Amino acid sequence: MPELPEVETVRAGLERHVVGRTVADVQVLHPRVVRRDLAGPAGFAAAMAGRTVKRAERRGKYLWLALDDDEALLAHLGMSGQLLVGDPDRPLSPHVRARFTFTDGGPDLRFTDQRTFGHLMLVPFAHADVDDARELPIPIAHIAPDPMEAAFDAGDFAARLTRRHTGVKRALLDQSLISGVGNIYADEALWRARLHWARPTETLKRGEVSRLLDAVREVLSEALRAGGTSFDALYVNVNGESGYFDRSLQAYGREGEPCTRCGTPIRRDAFMNRSSYCCPHCQPRPRRAHP
Ligand SMILES: [Zn+2]
Repeated sequence: MPELPEVETVRAGLERHVVGRTVADVQVLHPRVVRRDLAGPAGFAAAMAGRTVKRAERRGKYLWLALDDDEALLAHLGMSGQLLVGDPDRPLSPHVRARFTFTDGGPDLRFTDQRTFGHLMLVPFAHADVDDARELPIPIAHIAPDPMEAAFDAGDFAARLTRRHTGVKRALLDQSLISGVGNIYADEALWRARLHWARPTETLKRGEVSRLLDAVREVLSEALRAGGTSFDALYVNVNGESGYFDRSLQAYGREGEPCTRCGTPIRRDAFMNRSSYCCPHCQPRPRRAHP
């Protein structure tokens, strides 16, 4: 599942290679890719033709292209979706679900997806409310700011987090509280902040919340820097794995390996049909834990 750093890498690629260009033609090669778009494949393609891409934007894990006439092309990458920019004459792989050509005849944009969980839809913008000056596409208007953007309010986050009665990791994954933190980076941030994933949010002290937020920002910005360096070519090629950050992982995926801080083997617990990794010594399980 792509997380914020991966999606930001895609966004930066789209900004560089697609913004400012006008769509000539769209081929929808698999109808499922526009299954949420009410206009259907032919209507989607017709509505995209002639549109100019104004901006490539992101909030958390959500990515969209702002188009002229105040609409957005919202891209959900799902588990395995990729947006690839390249030579328009290169062979069409069987996983390409939609292909966009541009009026300048330059590189085309392809949405590929092995599993077709990802999708594209053309949507209007929601009017920005007073708390958040950014305009967001309507289907994601409820998504909270991510901790890397200016609209993120740390005090408001701390207040809302500690009013909840849930486990801290579950709260970190709640995109209406804080966006852009997925399973991998939640485990890494909790390890850095020395907090157990099941720690009840209502028991968090002010200092622990700010330690956690610092850790979330550190983890995300390190991953962003790592992703940024791998992206300089013509091809926007980012998938759902966070491969380039693997070497820096301290907790996630390291079951049985020694904690780099204290040497205790990292433990894996089942969590929401997935896993949580933590150090039982640095991140002691609270006496009262939320599932
Ligand atoms: Zn440890």
